[in-house]
Amino acid sequence: MSQGYNTVLLTGEDAVNQAVSLLQQGECVALPTETVYGLAADAANPAAVDKIFTAKGRPKNHPLIVHIPDVSHLSRWAMDIPESAYALAEQFWPGPLTLLLKKAPDVDTCVTGGLDTIALRVPAHPLFLSVLTKLDSGLAAPSANRYKQLSPTIAEQVTRGLAGRIAGVLEGGACDHGLESTILDLVSEQPRILRAGPISQQQLTDALGCEVLLPAQHVEVVPGNVKAHYQPTTPAKLLSTEQIMAQAERLNAANSFFLVWSEQAQRHLQESNERAQWRVMPATAAQYGQQLYVTLYQVDQQGAAQIIVEQPPQGDPWRAINDRLSRATS
Ligand code: AMP
Ligand code: MG
Repeated sequence: MSQGYNTVLLTGEDAVNQAVSLLQQGECVALPTETVYGLAADAANPAAVDKIFTAKGRPKNHPLIVHIPDVSHLSRWAMDIPESAYALAEQFWPGPLTLLLKKAPDVDTCVTGGLDTIALRVPAHPLFLSVLTKLDSGLAAPSANRYKQLSPTIAEQVTRGLAGRIAGVLEGGACDHGLESTILDLVSEQPRILRAGPISQQQLTDALGCEVLLPAQHVEVVPGNVKAHYQPTTPAKLLSTEQIMAQAERLNAANSFFLVWSEQAQRHLQESNERAQWRVMPATAAQYGQQLYVTLYQVDQQGAAQIIVEQPPQGDPWRAINDRLSRATS
């Protein structure tokens, strides 16, 4: 159901100022980041933050990430900040790393889903940074999609999901990474990754000089860790190269759309299925990640009965991709 907004697409020279003005009025505006588009609202204004939950249809106990203009703002939002946070900020901010810290006492728990911890990051997209610098405060900004749907990596995808529900969308082109930030918990005894993302476990281990855990399950409320998440509307299935080769005929007859990356699978589809519908995904993790959501979004509109995704390689650079794919196909 629409919330009665006439959602404006903000483009051109004055777009950043218009976004700032709407945010100052307590409205929600979708902003581009280097990971995915975020649905931003003034993190210090509970009524504005509330609008994020309404627009997304997101449960109120799911915490939001607060985006800040630079590391000097950390102490406004967090307390008992360990040295490691500053070391990581120095190396990875602005960038796709979110740090989980102890919440400062005066931060309203509406933004933390009632928890006494807070997730913080400095994003790298120049438009988002410019909005933050003008506001000189924090913006809560989860991904700009309806609850459980795909995160948007182009402005059109935001508009399709949230038109009528938010004040505006700042046009910023396609997102560089295309996958949500890595979330690192610095509150627990040992640093641990709560959500795999563009900054890998190895990069964090190297930066900290100690082991960084990557548990498969968490007790915390982490919506990205819900098993079914980041899902296209068309049912999607993850199959190995061998399974695709063996079942291509049957899958094709069942009106499947294939997302393949290996030459083997491409050749097989080409040779054995004249009418097969398929797209080639990039063979490098960085490019695959950048293309993943936008491809699922586009293929979702093709009217196929199912999307068959060829299992990508395993290994550290592919971890975030495999994580999102397993949820999209769960
Ligand atoms: P999204 O905003 O949709 O990218 O999701 C934000 C992610 O950050 C979710 O997985 C949240 O659960 C996680 N997150 C934010 N704040 C906290 C927190 N205080 N504790 C644990 N996870 C958090
Ligand atoms: Mg999200």
